[in-house]
Amino acid sequence: MYIVKQKVYGKDYYYLRKSFREGNKVISKSIAYLGKDLEDAEEKAKEIQEKMKVDEIKKAKNKLSKVENFELIKKDISVEEMANFCKRKGFIFNSGDLYGGLAGFWDFGPLGVELKNNIKNYWWNFHVQSREDIFGLDGSIITHPRVWEASGHVENFVDVAVMCKKCKNKFKVDESELKNAVCDKCGGEVENKGKFVPMFTTNVGPIEGDSIKAYLRPETAQLIFANFKNILDTTRLKLPFGVAQIGKSFRNEIAPRNFIFRNREFEQMEIEYFIDGEDKEACPYEIPDVEVLVYSSGMQLKNKSPEKMNLKVALEKKIIQLPWHAYWLGTELNWFFNLGVNLEKFRIRQHLPDEKSHYSTDTWDIEYNFPFGWKELQGIADRGTYDLSQHEKVSKKELRFFDEIKKKKILPTVISEPSLGVERALLVFLFDSFYENKKGETILKLPPKISPIKVAIFPLIKKDEAIVSLSREIYSELKKYFNVVYDDSGSIGRRYARQDEVGTPLCITIDEESVKNNSLTLRNRDTTQQIRIPLENLKSLISSFLDGEKGFLDLKN
Ligand SMILES: [Zn+2]
Repeated sequence: MYIVKQKVYGKDYYYLRKSFREGNKVISKSIAYLGKDLEDAEEKAKEIQEKMKVDEIKKAKNKLSKVENFELIKKDISVEEMANFCKRKGFIFNSGDLYGGLAGFWDFGPLGVELKNNIKNYWWNFHVQSREDIFGLDGSIITHPRVWEASGHVENFVDVAVMCKKCKNKFKVDESELKNAVCDKCGGEVENKGKFVPMFTTNVGPIEGDSIKAYLRPETAQLIFANFKNILDTTRLKLPFGVAQIGKSFRNEIAPRNFIFRNREFEQMEIEYFIDGEDKEACPYEIPDVEVLVYSSGMQLKNKSPEKMNLKVALEKKIIQLPWHAYWLGTELNWFFNLGVNLEKFRIRQHLPDEKSHYSTDTWDIEYNFPFGWKELQGIADRGTYDLSQHEKVSKKELRFFDEIKKKKILPTVISEPSLGVERALLVFLFDSFYENKKGETILKLPPKISPIKVAIFPLIKKDEAIVSLSREIYSELKKYFNVVYDDSGSIGRRYARQDEVGTPLCITIDEESVKNNSLTLRNRDTTQQIRIPLENLKSLISSFLDGEKGFLDLKN
């Protein structure tokens, strides 16, 4: 705002004017007449400006308290709508977007990479760091070709590509299914397009004729088996134990589909869990107290519906055969449940006798009810000693270890290999947390532990120096510990909505009272409740809320 002088018939008149932007133009407008004397005019201008500032604060405050207490409505959206949402908000982009996109490859944007990293970190913490019996590994992506010869991938990892004669739908079938195969979309007749190995190949070494053909790993598991001796030699292991790995795998899928559900490049979070094969029945851990829909092979063969059951009961009734499988099914379901995911959309499905791998005695899939149907999230199966004995045979090196108690050499059995795709888990979290308020605005109720942004900081008035300086100070301090954003554009309501849509659990507003008494307003995404708390201990208060140690209203005390 500024004072202008106007001369009318030789006399001076003073006015207070204000410039503001309207569209692309800057407009200047008279706000008040300030009299004929400059000194008086300056005094008056000061008074008016101060009053306007107070009014602005009042207006902003009114808006703040008027945010209604809304109920959230679960919103079921299609996978296409989810893909659009993820692109629009900067979670996930089709890779090579600029050139029309490459099918089956995805890039994770500013919010997507945070969400993905948080999921991986939480998985690692839950499965490795907080346990005594699981060790970590990070194997290389391009692996010695003999690893894949020993594992049987080069010889047996072969599919037949088929194409529907009617609708041109492409998919793969097992060689044994080829005779009876029909289009999985329209039921039409299919044409054999030839065998293919779904492993990506590359050449190691730059000189032609001197390079070797190698594979991009189609699974992380083999790196664990191939490193089994190294791990044995460098750690003090005692059965049972597991080795965990998070990393990328690659499969040249004939038909990548359902957004990030089936990709050509994907990331696995995997454990190979080893026991002495003689102790298959002895699981030292308590079976988790988890209730879930159970769909046994018997129920499937008799066309029955899945039954809701406690895993302990399913084990007692011998529906789940091995205690170790019940334990791992429960542990994996608990990983989701501990993050606040609704287990209503989960079920465990037993493989039918002809679905099982040749080395497995019993196999269960954890499935999730996606908008495109029930799909596998992870498999719980025993692989026996198959992989280790294959690597022993091909490498001619012993992979057994001496058990001090039993006084004998053991080739460990893999009793379970919980393996979860990061992208599939991410999709579960996104679908599970997709809500709307009564105004039809999206509220992404992501578990606070994995939310991309933990806290957003809003100065109530953008131009108030004291408010801005305090807001920046809080921002810089919290940024050391959490992913935090600073937002000063638009109304407070608009700023809340922006954060709700991307799942930010907490928002902080700094107003003139904050400056006076070192306090702030904290707002909860899921309830829109607001509390006024002192600035001190802010970091530990936020941590205790994000970790689930304290409820939102408990932060006040
Ligand atoms: Zn078809």
